[in-house]
Amino acid sequence: MTRDLPCHRCGTDNVLAVLRLPGTCTNASGNRYPVVHELHLCVRCDADNPLAGPVVGYLTADEARQTENVAQLARDLLRWIDQARPARPDEDALEAEVDAWYRGEL
Ligand SMILES: [Zn+2]
Repeated sequence: MTRDLPCHRCGTDNVLAVLRLPGTCTNASGNRYPVVHELHLCVRCDADNPLAGPVVGYLTADEARQTENVAQLARDLLRWIDQARPARPDEDALEAEVDAWYRGEL
């Protein structure tokens, strides 16, 4: 696992790798600034993901299986990295929490 880093989705320490993607954010003043988004590859969260799952499968397989499939790992990694995007907030959930906060329920 990766330096005892908890998964940002499930909170467990099942993170196999961290993909860092450069990006930008806009602050309240409208100024854009550079950021680095971290995407965790997690055994628990990504095993069934069509893009990340094969990479999880490779990294959790026994050593003999890893050696014979290294070329496939390269293809799977490139496909996962190519499609990986930073998580976006769930706008409906966020709005529901804001409404609950205004109602004094949080
Ligand atoms: Zn997870």
